[in-house]
Amino acid sequence: MHELYAIRYGWHPEGHSDADMAFGGDPTVKVEGMDFFCWLIVTDAGRPILIDTGFFAGLAARVGHTPLIEPADGVRMLGFDPARIEDVIITHAHYDHTGNLGDFPNARFHMGATEMASITGPLMTHPTTRGGFGKRDVKTLVGFVYEDRMRFLEDEDEVFPGIRSFILPGHTTGQLAIEVDTARGPVIVASDAVHLYSEIETERPFPVFHDMGAMIMSYRKLKGRAQRPDLIVPGHDADVTRRYPAVAPELAGKVVRLDRDPEAA
Ligand SMILES: [Zn+2]
Repeated sequence: MHELYAIRYGWHPEGHSDADMAFGGDPTVKVEGMDFFCWLIVTDAGRPILIDTGFFAGLAARVGHTPLIEPADGVRMLGFDPARIEDVIITHAHYDHTGNLGDFPNARFHMGATEMASITGPLMTHPTTRGGFGKRDVKTLVGFVYEDRMRFLEDEDEVFPGIRSFILPGHTTGQLAIEVDTARGPVIVASDAVHLYSEIETERPFPVFHDMGAMIMSYRKLKGRAQRPDLIVPGHDADVTRRYPAVAPELAGKVVRLDRDPEAA
């Protein structure tokens, strides 16, 4: 059984309305901001595997996000040297999941073949459909292919024993979720297949998508796969750090254990 942690590295403090959070939502209703996460698996052999690398802090102000810590510092808080991380899983290629790739200079990257084909193909010739992807990050990811640092995942795959990836298309073409065997059962890091708890509970689509119909079908696929609702962890909900126990008192609100049962629902 593996350990699984969420690292809250940033947030979007204000300015969100219901319409920013759900397609067809009410633009006059103000709602809580979003949090930004990466996730760390520590395998039963003690090996760290990072899921996503966060946004580049230098970019955050332009898009209204507040960096809280560097994702690499979150890795350090859990006792690991970023330079010694050997494996990083990329759930999808949006800028808030693929910044800071250079902070993990000795890692091999694992990402979906479907996502890579999408971010280097015809869909990227239009500014709307390439919105959310960073040219620098995409070039870096392509570079990893040529440097033998990239392993491509199929739409259903085993990343490592007890760690599975599966495609939940809609938000992006190749959005992956990562299912990790933990002491409380298989926890699914939904990443941005589900931004918010309310999104999957009510099936109100988050208004950033490549294919809204596919995204809604992915909610159903995810619910069908999860053994219990509390085994699904959304990618941007500010409630995650409230529901799950902190690794240590001083890390409350920053680094929490997803391999332990939530304290409140
Ligand atoms: Zn995201």
